[in-house]
Amino acid sequence: MSPLLDVEGLHVRIPLEQGMLHPVRGIGFNVSRGETLCIVGESGCGKSLTSLSLMGLLPRRARITATRLRFAGTDLLGLNEDALSELRGNRMAMIFQEPMTSLNPAYSIGNQLEEIYLRHRKASRSEARERAIFLLEKVGITAAASRLSQYPHQLSGGLRQRIMIAMALMCGPELIIADEPTTALDVTVQAQILRLLKDLLRELDMGLILITHDLGVVARIADRVAVMYAGQIVESGSVIEIFERPRHPYMQALLRCVPIPGRTPPGASLGSIPGMVPALYEGTKGCAFRNRCDYAAEPCASDPVPVHANRGSTWRCILSEDESLIHTSKAARSA
Ligand code: SF4
Ligand code: MG
Repeated sequence: MSPLLDVEGLHVRIPLEQGMLHPVRGIGFNVSRGETLCIVGESGCGKSLTSLSLMGLLPRRARITATRLRFAGTDLLGLNEDALSELRGNRMAMIFQEPMTSLNPAYSIGNQLEEIYLRHRKASRSEARERAIFLLEKVGITAAASRLSQYPHQLSGGLRQRIMIAMALMCGPELIIADEPTTALDVTVQAQILRLLKDLLRELDMGLILITHDLGVVARIADRVAVMYAGQIVESGSVIEIFERPRHPYMQALLRCVPIPGRTPPGASLGSIPGMVPALYEGTKGCAFRNRCDYAAEPCASDPVPVHANRGSTWRCILSEDESLIHTSKAARSA
């Protein structure tokens, strides 16, 4: 079966006074129905720009190109603006990190939910209202009908995030893109929201792209993982391969920096990755991680950086699997 979303060779370029910024550099990934793909990386790696480009939400001056961009068998590259905006928000929906900035403080919850439905469906106000109540119940909100007249500021962060999910579901999308959907929430509510997303995904047979910097979230929810660094996917694979056999030095370093529930032994010392993600202007060559990588060598500065594949994983690095796994086990011993 062909994937629900199939992306190949996606670039985002933004003309600035200093030059042409090239923050997304030829990435490819796909997601199927019922599947969760997590795109993970530090801030500034291009994760959010990737999702915004898929949703058509980047500023006008951003230039987006791709060699393939297919959604449910339709070539998005061949659609005009109207057809694209009809698809987005209807068959593809997005959940943002901070519900307070995406919910309008001046309108009631009911009004905001109903408007989305009325914009995309030929429906009456009372049908839209019925749909809103149905979805508020679906995302676990009790006394749903009485919530409709409430305003965003009257609700807790967890409730607002559930409402954002209900909003994304109003038109019955096939794909949801969630950008750091639980970052602003405390750990218990975060766990509830992730479980809710996972359950809804199965029940409604949707695909989910979840963007996060949090490896704990990835371990909980992902089927497959794409690790992004400086605008490229540097490693991708099943969640098990990525956590058990990370081959890219960046992913190996990320895993040494954070405790992963159920994976990191208690009392283990944690590292950090010195340095910062570089700003990428057009014409950047070689591996962008080389100013932070313990194994950088001369060939890392030239293109193309080789891409290896094994057990469904791919990684972009001069190191073979054996070389990279030897390095990582040494690093673990000296930690
Ligand atoms: Fe490190 Fe070189 Fe691999 Fe980049 S290509 S991750 S610099 S070893
Ligand atoms: Mg972001």
